[in-house]
Amino acid sequence: MAGIIMNSEPFPEEKLLMMHEDARYDVADDDKACIPDLYSIRTGIKSKLSPPKVPKVFLSNNCIFNCAYCSCRCSNDKRRYAAAPKELAELSVKQARLSSRGIFITSAIYKNPDYTQELIIETLKIIRRDYYYKGYIHAKVMPGADRELIYQTGTLANRLSVNIEVAKSENYNLIAKNKNKNNILTPMGQISALIKAMKNDSSRFRPAFAVSQTTQLMAGSAGEDDYTILRLSRALYRKYDLKRIYYTAFHYEHPAVGYDNLSFTTTPKWRVARLYQADRLISLYGFSAEELAPESSPNLMRDIDPKAAWAIRNLHLFPVEANKADYEMLLRVPGIGVTLSKRIIAARKTMTITFEVLKALGVSMRRSANFLTCIGKFYGGVCLDTEMLKTTLSDKAPIFTDQLSLTL
Ligand code: SF4
Repeated sequence: MAGIIMNSEPFPEEKLLMMHEDARYDVADDDKACIPDLYSIRTGIKSKLSPPKVPKVFLSNNCIFNCAYCSCRCSNDKRRYAAAPKELAELSVKQARLSSRGIFITSAIYKNPDYTQELIIETLKIIRRDYYYKGYIHAKVMPGADRELIYQTGTLANRLSVNIEVAKSENYNLIAKNKNKNNILTPMGQISALIKAMKNDSSRFRPAFAVSQTTQLMAGSAGEDDYTILRLSRALYRKYDLKRIYYTAFHYEHPAVGYDNLSFTTTPKWRVARLYQADRLISLYGFSAEELAPESSPNLMRDIDPKAAWAIRNLHLFPVEANKADYEMLLRVPGIGVTLSKRIIAARKTMTITFEVLKALGVSMRRSANFLTCIGKFYGGVCLDTEMLKTTLSDKAPIFTDQLSLTL
């Protein structure tokens, strides 16, 4: 088994800090992935419940791969470690008991993908069998790991993930030269098939197995637009039955050996937040990637959420009558989300919807007034002007509740 390979042995606390630093590129189950929850408060776009903050443990930062954006890359000059499974298991269980939120075990590729996966399995066995830990475990699958090892990992974990990272396979060559479509998509396909097979197996002797798979996609790594990212994410959800896709911002800030032509890049956080919103609009609201990021405007906007931006591009569909519009159309009105659409439909059974009723139901008239009529009456501006709407619907726009009630 692997021993500690540092030149000078760090104290456990120091190693823990290094682990957290090394694992920060992996956002799965991390609260950082929930930035858009902040946005949803103002826009009404329903976001998925935040995943729990699961403490991450990192088996090794001594990677054989050389991804330009990652501090664990083999060409980077940094202190290295590889934890022994027993040590990592003890640390994981301690962390899990402190946080009561489960365990996320991940690693750089130490020696080779199968060897690393075996170390992860060994660690999981100790956690489950020696420490009798029955809680939630999310385990990383190494790119290119053997199917049998993936299976064994799945029998010990609740969730598995392998990170796809780039939106176009040819871009691996630009930022992660050792990765390729096959060593990422093959394990993803195997995980998906195993989860499906286990769910369909009703025999008494079926082993416990992970129930979900996630992945991580980086934005801004190779000049790809948001349409490309969203289209890929839809395909991944469909093909691999993913529970969730985590979006992260690509950063390349320090020169990496082998990437002389790569320019320094820092993808802004707002772009990641907009991608999360678009992701939810597609899965919960029935939008398509083409509608949210059409050919004429393939990138999501910084100041306007993707649903409001779609409405502004499609003013010919508005205003809609609050007393007649179907659920799907109400969902597309800026400021009206899943909950409010349901409330309006339910209220229509017993009353006529007026603007006062909408306000009482919780609809933000600042966002919605220009897109609705109530019994044929329109309370928006004199005309639907695109520039005016952009200002009104901007995330930076102040909320003039008094002005609105005067209008009403
Ligand atoms: S495979 Fe790439 S991203 Fe993952 S730890 Fe190694 S260098 Fe970092």
